[in-house]
Amino acid sequence: MSRDCDLLVVGAGAAGIAAAREALSLGLSVRVLEARGRVGGRALTDASLGAPMDLGATWLHAAQSNPLAPLAEAAGLELFNHDSVRDSRVWMGDRWAGAAEMAEYEAAERAWHEAVRLADALPAGERPLSLADAAPRGGPWDATLTHWEGPVIAAAEAAEIDLGDYLSTLLTGTNLLPREGCGHLLGTLARGLPVTFDAPVERLSWGGPGLRAEGPFGALTAGAAVVTVSTGVLASGAIRFDPALPQATAQAVHDLPMGLLNKIGLRATGEDRLDLPSFGGLERRLGEGERAMTFVAWPFGRDHLEGFVGGALAWETSRAGEGALAELAFAELGRIYGARAGRALRRDIRAEWDWGRDPHALGAYAALRPGRGGAREALSAPLAGGRLMLAGEACHATLAGTLAGAWLSGAGAAREAAAALLPHGILGRRPA
Ligand SMILES: Cc1cc2nc3c(=O)[nH]c(=O)nc-3n(C[C@H](O)[C@H](O)[C@H](O)COP(=O)(O)OP(=O)(O)OC[C@H]3O[C@@H](n4cnc5c(N)ncnc54)[C@H](O)[C@@H]3O)c2cc1C
Repeated sequence: MSRDCDLLVVGAGAAGIAAAREALSLGLSVRVLEARGRVGGRALTDASLGAPMDLGATWLHAAQSNPLAPLAEAAGLELFNHDSVRDSRVWMGDRWAGAAEMAEYEAAERAWHEAVRLADALPAGERPLSLADAAPRGGPWDATLTHWEGPVIAAAEAAEIDLGDYLSTLLTGTNLLPREGCGHLLGTLARGLPVTFDAPVERLSWGGPGLRAEGPFGALTAGAAVVTVSTGVLASGAIRFDPALPQATAQAVHDLPMGLLNKIGLRATGEDRLDLPSFGGLERRLGEGERAMTFVAWPFGRDHLEGFVGGALAWETSRAGEGALAELAFAELGRIYGARAGRALRRDIRAEWDWGRDPHALGAYAALRPGRGGAREALSAPLAGGRLMLAGEACHATLAGTLAGAWLSGAGAAREAAAALLPHGILGRRPA
């Protein structure tokens, strides 16, 4: 039977780009169908503030095991070690934390992590299922640390995060910043790939020997497919699978709902830099149940401040619609700087993207529901003997929620699909 291509890749984010590159390197013919008019997916570098700002993925985490770090360097892109200039300020409600309080915060952080690990080691029956139930409470920094590890880092409330998965996906090592942005990096790595834009797949038939994708682009047939859309998009039913995805896969999609993290860039009006150094971090000490935004100031000496909001507060501002995130950011900064914040930062020029309302993402990245261990493996299990593979950040066991996890998952899915094509006589040689 003649087909349009060996491998169809659905989505041109990190996982899709990696899958397409891997499949091409194995000698497969490839087509990539992307719903948006650009590559990069949840990596998006914006230029509206006059300098690059990532509105999605920002850092190359865990640089030592991040496949994108050597690829960026090979492409001649500059990577900056953010950890070399870490300089955080913590607002105590009426003043900045002093040196002794910052030392206390660091000690509390070590104790917090130790307590979480000890909770994980408890015998079954006593072991808590969620991060919230494992996290210590009552100490002067505990609420701040739980808020940081939940909404800010994992994009979900600690009560919505599986304890074991939190520990398996903890990121260690160096955090690198591509000077031109992560979206720019993915654009560079996608150059020359056979991507069709504005081509949302609406139906994917995978019951027969080949696969058929349908959408506004018409129909396209392939020997195998790697589908890289988020679990939010999978759960929304935007792609109708025919036959429906197996129960175990559907359950895994349900067990990996999307968390939300949104960013906003605010530009300085003049010379006032709010007493923050370039790359300075800004956060508030929180009481139990309190929520807040966090900020990174003036990256690379640029004249904008980047604000982050995650978890329930992010969903609330997303639902509140246009302008709500800016209001929140100014309210947050106003608590610290009073009217000075409004004078130092422009309201009329800002950069932001609401990943919660973005129909092609429907969130930032997936968090595993407490007690649902095994869902990431179930989501990435080969279907139809490997001819249908789901891939993307949610599929990676240790680098979930990151570009690196998405990249490795996409490349691995392409290798699996390539191997599956062999018995069907589509490939002339076994992939390495
Ligand atoms: C605010 C924010 C900050 C983040 N910070 C970091 C960070 O600092 N470091 C880090 O490593 N990660 C970070 N992440 C996470 C990172 O962005 C994701 O893990 C990663 O980009 C996911 O890649 P993916 O290929 O799995 O999915 P995606 O990037 O979502 O790619 C899927 C693609 O499929 C397309 N698509 C959707 N539906 C269809 C359809 N029906 N047909 C065809 N195409 C479709 C989408 O448009 C998209 O391009 C952040 C994310 C956000 C939102």
